[in-house]
Amino acid sequence: GRPGCECNRCFDGPHCSIRTPNCTADATSGDPLFLEPYWKRHAAASAVLVPGWHRLSYATTDGLFQSVELENHIRRLHRAVGNAVVDGKRLVFGAGSTQLINALVHALSPDANAAAASPPARVVATAPYYPPYRTQTAMFDGREYRWEGTTAAAWANASRNSSSFIEFVTSPNNPDALLRAPVLRGSAVIADHAYYWPHFTHIAAPADEDVMLFTMSKPSGHAGSRLGWALIRDEKVAKRAYEYVQSSIMGASRDTQLRMLEIVKVMLANLHGEEDIFAFGHDVMRTRWRRLSAVVSRSRRISLQRINPQYCTYFNRVREPSPAYAWVKCEREEDDDCYEALLKARIITRSGAGYDASSRYTRVSLLKSDDDFEVLVERVTDLVNAENYDD
Ligand code: PMP
Repeated sequence: GRPGCECNRCFDGPHCSIRTPNCTADATSGDPLFLEPYWKRHAAASAVLVPGWHRLSYATTDGLFQSVELENHIRRLHRAVGNAVVDGKRLVFGAGSTQLINALVHALSPDANAAAASPPARVVATAPYYPPYRTQTAMFDGREYRWEGTTAAAWANASRNSSSFIEFVTSPNNPDALLRAPVLRGSAVIADHAYYWPHFTHIAAPADEDVMLFTMSKPSGHAGSRLGWALIRDEKVAKRAYEYVQSSIMGASRDTQLRMLEIVKVMLANLHGEEDIFAFGHDVMRTRWRRLSAVVSRSRRISLQRINPQYCTYFNRVREPSPAYAWVKCEREEDDDCYEALLKARIITRSGAGYDASSRYTRVSLLKSDDDFEVLVERVTDLVNAENYDD
């Protein structure tokens, strides 16, 4: 390795440019490192320097916990991208959208202190779904709400029960990148649009659900800064979500809000120019999908979800698919645990079982660094090439 410096575990040599043979590909996490080269190019413009005396207060000088300036810039970003209707909606910040998962379930549930308390709300999602909906809801469930499982089960039980449903609808979905709509009629919907940005999907029209969830983690890649926001139409629901964040953490980190303001400013300043972050992101992600698809298309052992090119209002043209995740299916009878089958080929993924789906499926993250992706393609290529020897 370089003196005083560690190479990525799959690389070696004085410039960290020599591949360690047969290195395991880790495609587990949704770390959005594919955007790191973009921010390296904009290092100076996006930097924030904060002197030690600055921002000691819990609140801003206006006595608020949320920066109005950041709110306005996020609204501007949605308008410019055309992915969400922001007029007539309130914005509530949280420590990542992870915190807002529970804030929104709380805000949409019947008030436990109300005189004639209603039965707890039943929180559901359609499999395969993002696991924290279950783990977060199950961790806190009780008087106001409880985790009820998949919409498939809820649909069967619905007629027997009068309590209300809260349905998580993730569009595009994590893990399979498909666009989703609510399944239960009349349920309160939390529309999680973490991936509804032009890096990952075509933008057909601005999303306009009553309760929407967004995060900085996926459009800008600043997952570690932990900033998420909810767009909420109803004033009372917005107030309950806001109060949840106040009682939980006294407002989203003000350091984070300051840093994210600079990040959004850089994104806005470059939209539709040479350095458009979405053009960059889409280009990286579609190239990855194209390369992975080319390798997997030669396989009879594994397959990928199908995604078609679609017209995108942001790019004003038909764009190629560029999902954040590959939802891999193992086709062979004996590979009923697809996670294990890929692990044997030195590829670490996330089993479909965690998403309340069949273990015949497993999720492969395509969001990580270029190095991570190169190692992934190498291991998948080995796996597919080995099939021909097996025959
Ligand atoms: N929703 C979905 C669908 C996600 O995939 C993620 C991150 N993987 C989140 C919410 C949470 O992201 P964060 O807490 O970083 O905002």
